[in-house]
Amino acid sequence: MIQERYALAARASSLGMSDITQGPADVLTAAGWAGQSDKLGIGTLLARLRAEADSVSARELDGANEGVDRVLLLMRLQTLGPAKDALMRYGSISATRLKLGVTDAQVARVIGAVIRHWLWPQCQHCDGRGTVDSAEKGPAVRVCKHCKGSGKASLSGGEGDEIKLGAHMLAMCDEFAGSALGRISKHLRHS
Ligand SMILES: [Zn+2]
Repeated sequence: MIQERYALAARASSLGMSDITQGPADVLTAAGWAGQSDKLGIGTLLARLRAEADSVSARELDGANEGVDRVLLLMRLQTLGPAKDALMRYGSISATRLKLGVTDAQVARVIGAVIRHWLWPQCQHCDGRGTVDSAEKGPAVRVCKHCKGSGKASLSGGEGDEIKLGAHMLAMCDEFAGSALGRISKHLRHS
């Protein structure tokens, strides 16, 4: 556990992630975002969160009861809190810019769903296979009715502007993380 944390910390600092916390002024300046993405450091947070999430499966997390099990699992996602905070700020800015009528509580709910979906996009009913075993008809398999065979989960919950915000945030998560990973690999090539 400690070793794992040390490895993560070492990796994080070697990637220059120590400057990920930014003040409110920077956040507001970042309203000029989309193209020049990631002034908020969201990409580096997301990249690190995904690395942490590799040690936790969504099924494990969903299956864990409230209490010790769940807390222990969530402890492995040390970047979840900071990533959520950064995405909350960015989500509020985005909602205003896109003129979406969502409350802070709705933004929070959307962010929660977006993070979960971004980390674990597979359909949880078929584990991403697209088919499930048809128990009553012997060994036959049938198409998973939840994902209609795609193996991908849909972004859950919400309606109207919440769905719009969710789709926007999910796309931005990909963009932020993609550009962060691009910078990271460039940095590694030059060091
Ligand atoms: Zn499915």
